[in-house]
Amino acid sequence: MTTARALVLEAPRTLVARDLALPEIGDDDALLRVEACGLCGTDHEEYTGQLFPGYAFVPGHESVGVVEAVGGAAARRWNVRTGQRVAVEVFLSCGVCAACRAGTYRRCERHGLRDMYGFVPVDRAPGLWGGYAQFQYLAPDSLLLPVPDSLDSVTATMFNPLGAGIRWAVTVPDLQPGAVVAILGPGVRGLSAAAAAREAGAGFVMVTGLGARDAERLALARDFGADLAVDIGTDDPVRALRDATGGSADIVVDVTAKAPAALGQAVLLARAGGTIVLAGTRGTPETPGFDPDLVVYKELRILGALGVDADAYRAALDLLATGKYPFAELPRRVVDLDGVDALVRAMAGEGDAPPVHGVVVPR
Ligand SMILES: [Zn+2]
Ligand SMILES: [Zn+2]
Repeated sequence: MTTARALVLEAPRTLVARDLALPEIGDDDALLRVEACGLCGTDHEEYTGQLFPGYAFVPGHESVGVVEAVGGAAARRWNVRTGQRVAVEVFLSCGVCAACRAGTYRRCERHGLRDMYGFVPVDRAPGLWGGYAQFQYLAPDSLLLPVPDSLDSVTATMFNPLGAGIRWAVTVPDLQPGAVVAILGPGVRGLSAAAAAREAGAGFVMVTGLGARDAERLALARDFGADLAVDIGTDDPVRALRDATGGSADIVVDVTAKAPAALGQAVLLARAGGTIVLAGTRGTPETPGFDPDLVVYKELRILGALGVDADAYRAALDLLATGKYPFAELPRRVVDLDGVDALVRAMAGEGDAPPVHGVVVPR
């Protein structure tokens, strides 16, 4: 095989199949045979053009696959061998700049947001910079995470959303055992945050959603560690939480998408001295119902969280391997490269109902 089939997003809503030449692998890099690539909100935002990366590029940044070829120096640095299954961190890390040495490699001075997998222009050699392809290039500064043998590749793509759940619900707010946690948004990241909070010893976990669109997800929340699931279209979440716990939330995690009222709700749900983690994006500066004075009176901490890190990914893969939560059975749509276009459109809310989890198995 000398070429790999890949999907190139050439312009908004224009995913084109191309055969890209497989690169020569040197001492310091590697090639991944992609077995599965998870989709998140970013995928449909770049597809519709709501996000404006530099087209054209091979999307896909939640890749799991098998090391097809690896150079000697790279194998030693990553501690991987040919045939090993790994998950790929979306960011590259030079390992030597101040940001990398401080552990905040998302702001790596050499790579940063420019070199994220799934966003690099296809005209930068070797072009295979994303997971919507049979093979993905692994550049020297990649971060690879070993995937436990017991996990299938499709379930293993949950390393990304579950890693996010762990970082946003546990690490960033410094969740303490017994904490009352409210999670706004019952999508794959909300369910992941619920499981992560439960696993970290939360005393009570509530998940909220809105209306018929979220009904299936709210019904799943208990299986993922939630004590209470609330449809805010019919129930007041502040009252529901008070009825169930006698109080308010120590931690509120907002993983909603396009829900401008979520911040106002988070402020109402948080107890005095509580912490709010903003990890969802609204796509608008409007925040209906947000009362800044309450942030003052309650002395709230509002923390932004963007992305995940390798520690959270490792913890996610370990938790997935335990099989404790039914991530393998999550309602999920798995498609080959020919099915990506319809899947991404469904996840953008156009056409078919969006699955809780979408995965590409490139063929
Ligand atoms: Zn993503
Ligand atoms: Zn760096």
